[in-house]
Amino acid sequence: MEKEFQDYLNFHLEQTTKNFKKKNFRALIFDNKESAVEFLLNEVSKSESIGYGGSRTLQQIGILDLLRKEGYNLLDRNRDGISFEERSMIERQIFSSDIFISSANAISELGHIVNIDLWGNRLCAISFGPKRVYLFIGYNKITANLNEAIYRAKNVAAPLNAIRLNKATPCTKTGICYDCTTQERICGTMSIIEWCHPKDRITLLFIKEELGF
Ligand code: SF4
Repeated sequence: MEKEFQDYLNFHLEQTTKNFKKKNFRALIFDNKESAVEFLLNEVSKSESIGYGGSRTLQQIGILDLLRKEGYNLLDRNRDGISFEERSMIERQIFSSDIFISSANAISELGHIVNIDLWGNRLCAISFGPKRVYLFIGYNKITANLNEAIYRAKNVAAPLNAIRLNKATPCTKTGICYDCTTQERICGTMSIIEWCHPKDRITLLFIKEELGF
């Protein structure tokens, strides 16, 4: 990474973490995904139940495979051969889990977390239920303010996820959200989290790498 970009990134990450801390969140900066993963492993024990939300970032940092391999108590909604019913049951169990890990669709530098889901399983678990939440955030998810974060969630993250899922929606052809009414639509619920209660329940792990959508 060029020094000028490092300085620029450090400035924005420091501003962002400062603003989130003022809003009761835990916010930390990591040079790379390996150090963020190591931090999480030092925070959780194998007796604690761990749920997770669908996330390209989690795949890229390798945390799910690591938790499976090391025998952590993962509530594994994506395990091989799982039925729709089993998956739905695990998604409900996650609301009473000890820990939830995920990423976010967009972050505002002023201290907002924006997410869009089909039926809200991920964004509900981030808001309420699991005792502790850890969100891994690549710098590419950070925007200047709430309006830009909503724009990013709708017009960057959602179309890329629709393309990833091979959906027959207008955004997969044009890369922009049309607020479609197709049965293939992947956007059903949007959340904005702008205050952490109880204090420090949500930890944001900002990583100096481009990760996820
Ligand atoms: S609402 Fe429809 S068009 Fe917009 S991002 Fe979601 S799936 Fe794509």
